[in-house]
Amino acid sequence: MKRNLITLAVAMFAFNVTAGSDPHWGYSGKTGPQNWYNLSEANASCEGQNQSPIDLSGFVESTLSAIDFSYQAQGHEIINNGHTVQVNFETGSQIKLDQHQFNLVQYHFHSPSENHINGKSYPLEVHMVHADADGALAVVAVMFDEGAENEGLAKAWASLPKHAGDKHSLSTPVSAFDLLPKSQDYYRFNGSLTTPPCSEGVRWLVMKQPLTASKAQISSFQSTLHEPNNRPIQPLNARVVMQ
Ligand SMILES: [Zn+2]
Repeated sequence: MKRNLITLAVAMFAFNVTAGSDPHWGYSGKTGPQNWYNLSEANASCEGQNQSPIDLSGFVESTLSAIDFSYQAQGHEIINNGHTVQVNFETGSQIKLDQHQFNLVQYHFHSPSENHINGKSYPLEVHMVHADADGALAVVAVMFDEGAENEGLAKAWASLPKHAGDKHSLSTPVSAFDLLPKSQDYYRFNGSLTTPPCSEGVRWLVMKQPLTASKAQISSFQSTLHEPNNRPIQPLNARVVMQ
């Protein structure tokens, strides 16, 4: 049942653009994060004990095995769904983790970053959302500092869809590999979707090494969304962050 809900959440996440901007939740006011749990019975998890994002700190030393990335240039369309800008992928890009396969469904962005590392917020964060055959999710997150222009972003954002509901085909398909740092050391914790319905049981893999994006790239994303799209930091509770 829980798996089905998560699958549904991913499907909604990927396809809610067809309905344009979802009017039922946002990042401020009465439909903001403090009230998400109240907006729908489906959002009960937003009050859960294992929510994302978090401030990653107090790391527990562990023997995390390398994530086996196998990414192809299969990002074929870019969508402004009113909450973020998202690139959707054809099947064929995947990671191997915990000895099974998670397929890359989409990546999308938050500005400022949702997760913090040792108390530090970044101006931009990408979430690469993967699902296994049962609908369980693994999200690879990468932080961006302001600095040199990022070529991967330049490719994907060549035609940023300006209005909620806008969708463009990418004339040259993009690979999520372009948004991975050279070092693939990462932090790991258990968390949730950072948007309603806030479903838990999500494997979070946050790359330690940040990338850079230019000031112009960051501000073009911010001006497209009109408002910050970061959920506030959630309590860690009984969880640990492994490294
Ligand atoms: Zn996200």
